[in-house]
Amino acid sequence: MKCTRCRGAAEVQLRAHNSAFCRPCYLLFFRRQVERAIASENMFTKEERLLIAVSGGKDSLALWDVLVDLGYDTTGLYLGLGIGAYSSRSHDKAAAFAAARGLALRVVELAEEGPGMAVPAVAGLTRRPACSACGTMKRHYFDQVAHDEGFDVLLTGHNLDDEAARLMGNVLRWQRDHLARQRPVLPPSHPKFVRKVKPLFLCSEYETAVYAFMRGIDYIVEECPNAAGASQLVYKDTLNRLEAASPGTKQAFVKEFLRTGQPAFASTEAREAPRECTGCGMPSYGELCAFCSMMRAVQARAASRAAASDRAAPA
Ligand code: SF4
Ligand SMILES: [Zn+2]
Ligand SMILES: [Zn+2]
Repeated sequence: MKCTRCRGAAEVQLRAHNSAFCRPCYLLFFRRQVERAIASENMFTKEERLLIAVSGGKDSLALWDVLVDLGYDTTGLYLGLGIGAYSSRSHDKAAAFAAARGLALRVVELAEEGPGMAVPAVAGLTRRPACSACGTMKRHYFDQVAHDEGFDVLLTGHNLDDEAARLMGNVLRWQRDHLARQRPVLPPSHPKFVRKVKPLFLCSEYETAVYAFMRGIDYIVEECPNAAGASQLVYKDTLNRLEAASPGTKQAFVKEFLRTGQPAFASTEAREAPRECTGCGMPSYGELCAFCSMMRAVQARAASRAAASDRAAPA
């Protein structure tokens, strides 16, 4: 197998792109894919301050690596979710990546914020699925750190597989409001929000893993224990089967949606501008934002448990 670019010996074959690459040409190809996504979607400029949400996994660390290489002004943001050994190992990977390259990493430990509870405690007290509590907490702290610390853009490492799986989920339930907002760039709908972007939206999970491997990035391979059984994984598996039968399916699914479907859904969605949450001051569509409502429920449940145990305790 020969490299499509230099005709040397190829190390990786990409059926979706009908090409194969040697290591140096692959690294160039991957970087160019990211550069093209940034340019074609007007994601950000070299003058802007970028905050990258890093989980210690391959996608966010590969994204950070490419952006540092391209000369962008980047800071990492790691959220300590408090999910046992998984969280401590993922924190170690993110911290080691930043330290080895002299990069700034902002760490927020959820157990040290607000009522002092991380994801498992919040999920347990509210009886919500862990991913629902986690998603609400992540969104809140990402938005708040980006706003409070003056960043221009918030970046996440969502890749093509993530976007295709999310699109499949939204289509299967015809979630018009979600389809209207599924884009690689979300402009801020309030002065306290920053632009949110996904520069890897056209890079597959496989391509990102190959890039991370070739660059010697040490990332956490294990999945969060709460991911098992998530419907996203079923969609990814289904899409991988379609991709194996017809390479390029995932790219076409996402790209064509963005070209034709998404604008049609967006044109029918008139969403009022958010006001400010009376609890935390961040933008919200209701009196309290989703995060503050959840935290009120957590505090109420914790207080009633404490009162019940006081009553049960012998005098
Ligand atoms: S799998 Fe669920 S709990 Fe784990 S990090 Fe993702 S959203 Fe959070
Ligand atoms: Zn080559
Ligand atoms: Zn709030």
